[in-house]
Amino acid sequence: MLPLAVKQRLQKEILNWNDTGMAAYELPHRGELFQTIANTSVQNVRDLLKVPDNYHVLFLHGGAQSQFSMVPLNLIGDRKKVAYVDTGQWSRIAAKEAERYASLHWAASAKANDYTDIPDVADWDVPQDAAYLHYVDNETIDGLEFSNIPQVDDLPLVCDMSSNIFSRAFDVSRFGLIYACAQKNLGCAGLTLVIIRDDLLNRQKAHPLTPKLFNYRLHVDAQSVLNTPSTMTWYICSLVLQWLKEEGGLKTMEARSQKKSELLYTAIDSSALYVNCVKPQFRSRMNVVFNLKDESLTQTFLDQAAAAGLMHLKGHKLRGGIRASIYNSMPVEGVNRLIAFMSDFEAQH
Ligand SMILES: *Cc1c(COP(=O)(O)O)cnc(C)c1O
Repeated sequence: MLPLAVKQRLQKEILNWNDTGMAAYELPHRGELFQTIANTSVQNVRDLLKVPDNYHVLFLHGGAQSQFSMVPLNLIGDRKKVAYVDTGQWSRIAAKEAERYASLHWAASAKANDYTDIPDVADWDVPQDAAYLHYVDNETIDGLEFSNIPQVDDLPLVCDMSSNIFSRAFDVSRFGLIYACAQKNLGCAGLTLVIIRDDLLNRQKAHPLTPKLFNYRLHVDAQSVLNTPSTMTWYICSLVLQWLKEEGGLKTMEARSQKKSELLYTAIDSSALYVNCVKPQFRSRMNVVFNLKDESLTQTFLDQAAAAGLMHLKGHKLRGGIRASIYNSMPVEGVNRLIAFMSDFEAQH
């Protein structure tokens, strides 16, 4: 979902943006007016995340999965190896793409604990000759989230923050590259935010077969307007960034997501019907995944929830069970309604 305030603003401006007589998505993408939207978005990302000056902020096409290819194509250089951490479905999908271009080394895996715990960073096996180390900060499908940025020396740290970026403050300078698709905390589908440290661009050349539109250096030089960007999506994203600032930035988002997820986990832990096995320290604040102890009730739960206006609670097909995605735009009232429903459902069954 998008914040209601963003949708209302969109509704107001849908025919006429800023008294130009044109809609934002009708503006020529290289013209001064669209550039205002683009530049303001970049500045708002810099302000919200306190992005240091030696990082570039890009708004690229496509989703996070195009980054699964762009990262290896641009960052491997003359190294032969890449290192990935397996904390869930997205980690493995990302690694599979990288494996086309280099030999894949798993630095750590949560598999042995059935993805309910993240191995201690001290026990990770990080080869120093790898081009980079990749991890997924929040595993959207498995409901597993890092509580801290892993401390690894020497290797550039690459992170997929698709499902939790802008939900808490963090130190950008710890990373070589961060990416996030827009459709969770940043707007709607069709756009991906990339933050890349300058020296990674200069350190090596992209793979010779890298398509033009997959080359970070070219995007940096063209300030994300290498070809026609997704102007409508970028515009919606600019409204979300502005909303984030108006709401009080990352401090507010962090407090809200802490509160919302705590309410929901407390409800799960204090019930006899619902269960979440993730170690508390690594429970996702964005995707609360749980199961019914009596699995045969899952479909009834989903049907009755939908009838009560609580939509899209079905867990990912790869994992099953229930998943409540409570991104930044989900108000605490939404979480409270779900908790009330869960409690009624448990009393009934
Ligand atoms: C949603 C999500 C993706 C999705 O990628 P798209 O190409 O935008 O569909 C990738 N990684 C994570 C962690 C996600 O949550």
